[in-house]
Amino acid sequence: MSTTATQTKPLAQPSGTYQPKGMLIGGKWVGSASGQRIAIENPGNRSLVAEVPRAAAADVEAAVAAADKAFPAWKNVVPRERGKLLLKIAEAMEVRSEEMARTIALETGNALRTQARGEAKLAADIFRYFGGLASELKGETVPLGEHVLSYTRREPIGIVGAIIPWNAPVMLGALKIAPALCAGNVLVMKAAEDAPMGVLLMADICQEFLPPGVLNVVTGYGEECGGPLANHPKVRKLSFTGSTDVGKVIMRAAAERIVPVSLELGGKSPSLVYPDADEDWAVDGIINAMRFTRQSQSCTAGSRLFLHEDIFDSFLKKLEKKTSALKIGDPLDEASDIGTIINNKQFTKVCKYVDEGLKRSDAKLVFGGLPPKTGPLSEGYFAVPTVFADRSNDWRLAREEIFGPVLVAIRWSDEAEAIRMANDSHYGLAAYVWTHDIGRGLRAAHAIESGWVQVNQGGGQSPGMSYGGFKQSGLGREFSLEGMLDSFTQRKSVTVNLAV
Ligand code: ADP
Repeated sequence: MSTTATQTKPLAQPSGTYQPKGMLIGGKWVGSASGQRIAIENPGNRSLVAEVPRAAAADVEAAVAAADKAFPAWKNVVPRERGKLLLKIAEAMEVRSEEMARTIALETGNALRTQARGEAKLAADIFRYFGGLASELKGETVPLGEHVLSYTRREPIGIVGAIIPWNAPVMLGALKIAPALCAGNVLVMKAAEDAPMGVLLMADICQEFLPPGVLNVVTGYGEECGGPLANHPKVRKLSFTGSTDVGKVIMRAAAERIVPVSLELGGKSPSLVYPDADEDWAVDGIINAMRFTRQSQSCTAGSRLFLHEDIFDSFLKKLEKKTSALKIGDPLDEASDIGTIINNKQFTKVCKYVDEGLKRSDAKLVFGGLPPKTGPLSEGYFAVPTVFADRSNDWRLAREEIFGPVLVAIRWSDEAEAIRMANDSHYGLAAYVWTHDIGRGLRAAHAIESGWVQVNQGGGQSPGMSYGGFKQSGLGREFSLEGMLDSFTQRKSVTVNLAV
């Protein structure tokens, strides 16, 4: 877990990773007003690898003031020109992609080969996607009669306060920075206290191209730094990705002063496997959907596996064989498929869930279990992919978001009952359906209450696809043209009487 730094000596960092220069306020790299710092830990071996400023209210004030100063000029930059700057950022991110990937692996514990490289590339793609959309910030004309001209404009909202988590920090950061800036807003982003380094590298790259103050990044703890940002009277839009509990806090802050808010929150996503899908491709898909190679630290993890009773045992056998072939190890090692949990707090939480499963006589451990207590894996927060069976959808492990590699397999025989169980959750972010019968697959996709249903695949998000949750998984959509228009612009109607 990140800790408040007490040391002053430079920290040893693995080669090819980014060394933060401070946080970015008004185009300058600065420390916190208090001088305090947060030490960043490598979850692969618990060593301290960097320090970043521990920002609080005074620093947020400075960042908001810098954004406020930059806004009038930035909103008047011709959209096409803003788009060109985003495209240049995308190119520069490609050039530093390996440094970005190594930095992400170092601080998040996500394996370099299976995860971090993909995240670095996707972040560049997100800038490229939104860079190409600047001319799509169009309005409409409204047919109110021959003597009236009524049209709409898409105007920027102003200062966006963006708060992001640690699980895919650079991708999620890019997802807010690129559309917000494309639409003419300015931004103050709070990086997660556990994984700020990749976000600071992204800000460093952006800063080569952007006027000072258009993008500001502060580093600090949730309540101490995120709180003042969410509550700042000059912040006109809040965009948050993180837990449902903190999402509620952010929404209350937005309600206090009636500002729009986008929330991308937790999930407990169902995977519904029909009896005709007892095949290797579906097993590979389940491993992907469960995000085992991201230690399942993903809001879209398909963590409730509904298997038809006819294939229950055979499918789990295949799943065990394929999952046990994945190599758990140092996130920076090319050979590793699976890295580490982010920090001690999450690691302890995941272990507690596994422990509960092991202790219950009415739950069956299919494979996995508690992490090793000796050997190289005991030096970091390495969790082991674990599957429990024989309990119902009502079990705590099937209801709560674990954010770790713990999958609960649930037997079904009646399709309507399976869909009822899939929908019996306060979450509704993602879902997965597995069958050769495409009609049946699509009927299930339509019946499941989730913002995103995939049939016969378990991949991650792609730019262009509106992404967000039903129920307590969130509010609003990001990741697409519509997401940018709805989340980062406000519509103004102008009505002109042509008869005078
Ligand atoms: P996770 O469980 O993924 O860490 P959190 O919701 O706890 O999700 O954190 C997501 C982001 O929200 C982080 O940047 C964190 O610092 C921030 N955060 C946590 N608590 C608050 C709060 N009370 N106000 C504002 N931001 C917060």
